[in-house]
Parts: sequence; structure tokens; C-alpha cells
Amino acid sequence: MIPFFKKKKKLPSASEKRGIKEDLFAKCEKCGALYYKKQLERELWVCPECGYHFRIPASKYVEYLLDEGTFIERIGENLYSTDPLKFPGYAKKLEGYYEKLKLNDAALCGIGHIEGIKVVLFVTDFKFLGGSMGSVYGEIFLRGTRRAVKEKIPFISLTTSGGGARMHEGIFSLMQMAKTVVGVVELNEANIPYISVVAHPTMGGVMASFASLGDIIIAEPGALLGFAGPRVIEQTIRQKLPEGFQTSEFLLEKGFLDEVVSRKELKKRLAYYLKHFGGSNG
Ligand SMILES: [Zn+2]
Repeated sequence: MIPFFKKKKKLPSASEKRGIKEDLFAKCEKCGALYYKKQLERELWVCPECGYHFRIPASKYVEYLLDEGTFIERIGENLYSTDPLKFPGYAKKLEGYYEKLKLNDAALCGIGHIEGIKVVLFVTDFKFLGGSMGSVYGEIFLRGTRRAVKEKIPFISLTTSGGGARMHEGIFSLMQMAKTVVGVVELNEANIPYISVVAHPTMGGVMASFASLGDIIIAEPGALLGFAGPRVIEQTIRQKLPEGFQTSEFLLEKGFLDEVVSRKELKKRLAYYLKHFGGSNG
């Protein structure tokens, strides 16, 4: 039998020919500069050439923001999604992420110190289903805020979420918008400071709930922040959107954000606000 197609043999790339391992390098998506990953690691994954902020996993943010060795207690680490809608392929996908990312959902939450000040830190991971918000994510958030209220310590969230609410859990995901807002209301009622850091991208139900409710809202430079994406808006309103619409810098100018802060300055800036709010060491 004659095969319908013939598999083309993959030709080696230039670096493969020279025997260079490709995974040692990373290319800047904005300016195209090529770096050793180790070099970028020292730069906190900010391009030294153009300032582009590479997307990094939740664990890296924990490492960059908290004092070394202080992130001991994890909140909600034993919670797993029950796949309430029996969404085709979802359970298998989750298994893959548990294995690969060593996370039980797209959110990582725990207690740690920033320049000696005790906080609850909630960070999301884009690699886990786009950092989308499902029922476990929402529950981890609420447990985190309640812990902050109980211990009277500030709460900080750092989000990267491309799609917002997780479609695989349908209405259960949408309900997390209300649930996380309840967490923020409880922080307010107890006079606990809440700082929201929004990184690229923070969209949909995440932006439309807790992420936009911080007492202070800080963005990383060049992040895409909004509800619906620019293409959807243009098609709906049939109008051309302004240049740079939905970027951190645009939203700062319009008064939606308090500050745009480079990742390299973020820890220092968070500590500044925490001290301003009256955070003490302990
Ligand atoms: Zn660059």
C-alpha cells in the first residue's frame, strides 16, 4: 500500500548543528535579543535590553517577593477539583498539570515575609490552564483572605490569567467571582490592607472581580489588563480602539492603576506600602 503522506525528516537547527542545547537560551518576545537563561534569572526575567517582562511561574514570584525561607505554610494545598461538569478531557488535563507543575490548581497561597513583614501571598500560575479561576482557585483565595483577617496581616494577590473564569467548570467558575469578592469585603471590614499586583495578562472574570479591588493596584509594565480582549471589543462596538488600549501604561494614565512597577523593584515597593499601612515585623 502506498502511504498518503511521507513524514519529513526534521532538519537540525543551526544551534543543534553546532551542538548547542536550545533550552539554555531564551529569546525576548519584544526585541528578539537572545540570552542565557541563567543570565535572565539574575535579571528576574526582565529583558536587560528593552524591559520586556517574561512570564514566570508562581514559584518564581514567591522566590522573588518573599524573604528567603519564610514561605513555609501553604494554604489550600490539599484541595483538588472534582470536575463537577464531567467536562470532556478536563480530569486528564488536570492530572497532567498536577504532575508537571507540582501544583494542585492554578493558584499558590501561603504565609511569608516581605522585608520582615508577615503577609498572606496569593499567586497564580499561567501555565496551569492559563491561570484560570475554577472552584479550587476561588476557595484557596477565600481561605487566604480569611487567614489574613484571623492573623491581622496584609493580603497580597499577584495574578496572571489569560481567560479569567475557567470554562471547564462553567457556572462553578463564575461563582468564584462573587466568592473572591466576599473575601475582599471581609478584608475591608476588618481593616486589613489588600494589595493587588496584576501581571501579563490579567483578563476576564479575574480582572472583573478581586484583582481590580485592591486598596493599592500595581501592574507590571506592558501587561495586558482588561475584561474582554481588544478584538472582541472592536467587533462588538465596531470602532477602532485607541493605541495601547488595555496596557498597564494606558490604564495608569486613565486612573485605573496606582502604579506601574518593574518586577525588579516590586518587592521594595510592596515593602514600602506595607510599612505605610503600619505593617510591623513578626
Ligand atoms: Zn527585549
